[in-house]
Amino acid sequence: MRFDILSIFPEMFTLLIDYGIVGRAVKKGKIKINVVNVRDFSEGLHLMTDDRPFGGGDGMVMKPEPIFRALESIPKLEGERKVILLTPQGQLFNQSIARSLCELQQIILVCGRYEGVDERVRSRYVDIEISIGDYILTGGELPAMIIVEVVSRLIPGILGGARSNLEESFEDYLLEYPQYTRPRVFKGDEVPSVLLSGDHERIRLWRRTQSIKRTLERRPDLLERANLSEMDKSILEELKQRKL
Ligand code: SAM
Repeated sequence: MRFDILSIFPEMFTLLIDYGIVGRAVKKGKIKINVVNVRDFSEGLHLMTDDRPFGGGDGMVMKPEPIFRALESIPKLEGERKVILLTPQGQLFNQSIARSLCELQQIILVCGRYEGVDERVRSRYVDIEISIGDYILTGGELPAMIIVEVVSRLIPGILGGARSNLEESFEDYLLEYPQYTRPRVFKGDEVPSVLLSGDHERIRLWRRTQSIKRTLERRPDLLERANLSEMDKSILEELKQRKL
């Protein structure tokens, strides 16, 4: 998987590229992250990447030409690629969008700044518009990093254990069960005894029940899309009865 990121603040990505799981994946050559400085594609004495909006109004808008030129400079790989614009007006990013993105060979992320990018960038080059939440950031760099991180950890071989991301929150539209580690007793609070029992079937059932309970308590909206077995449904019914 190759990520090409267009930004006027390329230095912001050094933390992403140098640290953690993404950093390790870059070092091992499992993913490639190429950050393109849009300013390198601007012209004129002041290398302007933004200009005043036609029709008046506050703020500046990112000019189309440097972004067009930056996009055209990116090598096209074999296989499917998509250009993504980070914008608060896009579809809300979630785990299932991340899963569909991780099938691609190449993802190009366009980071806006100021009041956003000229509409012609959006209409001519962009395949998908993505928002990371219903709030306004000052730039698309943090959203781009979030997408790189979430998609990368879904690529086979990037996380340590093969199953480690299949049990996480939002997979299957259920939140994850509570996790515990040593010590066994912390300030008087004990780890649930079932987790120390060594009985794998009881542990699996306890975790599944906790997962359904958490989702019911915190994100009942997810349960409508959850893939529940007959056993899960009876656990859910019992939890609902108890709640009443
Ligand atoms: N004027 C724009 C609007 O109302 O839609 C907001 C521009 S915002 C200040 C500047 C840039 O930050 C955007 O072009 C986008 O790239 C990025 N951005 C801000 N909030 C975002 C969000 N929630 N999700 C994704 N990108 C966001």
